[in-house]
Amino acid sequence: MAEFKTDIEIARAANKKPIQDIGAKLGIPSEHLLPYGHDKAKVSADFIKSLRDRPEGKLVLVTAINPTPAGEGKTTTTVGLGDGLNRIGKKAAICIREASLGPNFGMKGGAAGGGHAQVVPMEDMNLHFTGDFHAITSAHNLLSAMIDNHIYWGNELGIDERRVTWRRVMDMNDRALRDIVVSLGGVANGFPRQTGFDITVASEVMAILCLAKDLDDLQKRLGDIVVAYRRDKSPVYCRDIKADGAMTVLLKDAMQPNLVQTLENNPAFVHGGPFANIAHGCNSVIATTTALKLADYVVTEAGFGADLGAEKFFDIKCRKAGLKPAAAVIVATVRAMKMNGGVKKEDLGSENVEAVKKGCPNLGRHIANTKGFGVPVVVAINHFVSDTEAEIQAVKDYVAEQGAEAIVCRHWADGSAGIEDLARKVVEMAESDASNFSPLYPDDMPLFQKIETIAKRIYHADEVIADKSVRAQLRQWEEAGYGHLPVCMAKTQYSFSTDPNLRGAPTGHSVPVREVRLSAGAGFIVAICGEIMTMPGLPRKPSAEVIGLNDEGNVEGLF
Ligand code: ADP
Ligand code: MG
Repeated sequence: MAEFKTDIEIARAANKKPIQDIGAKLGIPSEHLLPYGHDKAKVSADFIKSLRDRPEGKLVLVTAINPTPAGEGKTTTTVGLGDGLNRIGKKAAICIREASLGPNFGMKGGAAGGGHAQVVPMEDMNLHFTGDFHAITSAHNLLSAMIDNHIYWGNELGIDERRVTWRRVMDMNDRALRDIVVSLGGVANGFPRQTGFDITVASEVMAILCLAKDLDDLQKRLGDIVVAYRRDKSPVYCRDIKADGAMTVLLKDAMQPNLVQTLENNPAFVHGGPFANIAHGCNSVIATTTALKLADYVVTEAGFGADLGAEKFFDIKCRKAGLKPAAAVIVATVRAMKMNGGVKKEDLGSENVEAVKKGCPNLGRHIANTKGFGVPVVVAINHFVSDTEAEIQAVKDYVAEQGAEAIVCRHWADGSAGIEDLARKVVEMAESDASNFSPLYPDDMPLFQKIETIAKRIYHADEVIADKSVRAQLRQWEEAGYGHLPVCMAKTQYSFSTDPNLRGAPTGHSVPVREVRLSAGAGFIVAICGEIMTMPGLPRKPSAEVIGLNDEGNVEGLF
């Protein structure tokens, strides 16, 4: 039966069209598609420039409840809804993130959706794709090399070698490189100092590429990166190192959005992929705005649950890019409601209506929070074959009590035919112009108060706890002219609180801010609440052990 096929089997059987045909659906002339093989292309910067005065379509955000090990299916639903909107006769495109290569060799699944709602070619998407992440790695490490080189040749800028904040990156899970000593081996190799590697998606260059409006804005933001401090604590910028021009050259092609297709041959922009903890976790602004100029509906996804993903999408991406989302879809599953209600993963197979009801307040809070941004909300119940009628009804009843509607979606099993109802509802919400979007806090609110506002209004915490040093740092940045920046919260995605085991809708908790970081180029202040890993490791049995090519030359074991 079709539903037992694996994601990769379904993807391989796809009836793909030449990428020029997909571009034509959006009116992109083939000379403005820069093909990478037959099924991937970049959209030219010149064409994007020519769209400036066109009206924009409606933007729809797909977000979710707090993730559980049961799986929610945000990307699957984003792809499904894009196909569903096309099916009911709308001109729709989707915008999702590119996958990080390293984690695929650990244990993460793919990033192209699942079942009959996928983007193809999925192997490419999960591997080298069009090389964007390699370009970001190179641009980042060029700056690293130029900083050490500057110090080596006399350190005219007076960089304090103990306070170089710019590290190195690679797109691989390699815990051995988290903390290292560089420049060992004698005078010719420079001055030994401690530093380390992060994974490429954690690079500020990634966040910058995803928030930049065009190449000029990209270069300006790269120049604004703080790379080190002097003995008097004054910042040294990337611009001072004179790396911003060459970095922009390395990123020139990567800035052009990638166009691919869904299993149903509808257009999909796959571009950028910043971390969702120390960065904002959304696909690029340039892909989203380009899609909005070319389609009547653009469906996009934000990372993690709505407490992190949607909040950053609204408060960072939409605020900075001037985007006005028309509607939001919150993805929930019966299984995840059960887990929030206390059921163990092994026991998810049997009906338990009481546990579903008990878990629903997690969903309820995400509904209220999202409405708080002025954006109309609908809940998509991503249907799993094990769901029972009574369990589904319990979710529907609960959502109705919250003043919203929950719609069962069967796109994973049936493709666009399974998600028509949701597509119609989204159109109804968007056409009614009910959205009255505004960010959670104004630009001019003091930084610490911004953190408190998010913690109290979104997480329902009682208080934010922070050392004197953290508060003093924030005040110092305010004095240095960074007070208008939004805050990017880095906390566990599994709970509204900072305790990953606290499911449901906790109240009365405290949010401890351990550390704050300035991403001056990206344009946000990161508030770190708890342990955040910026260089993952591989598990005991990495999936790399079973990844290989089969007799037909196809990739096996990736998904
Ligand atoms: P997210 O974007 O929320 O991380 P994905 O859409 O990537 O989640 O889905 C994660 C995994 O769950 C994928 O392998 C996908 O095939 C699977 N999945 C999604 N929806 C369903 C469903 N309705 N039934 C079974 N598996 C599903
Ligand atoms: Mg996803």
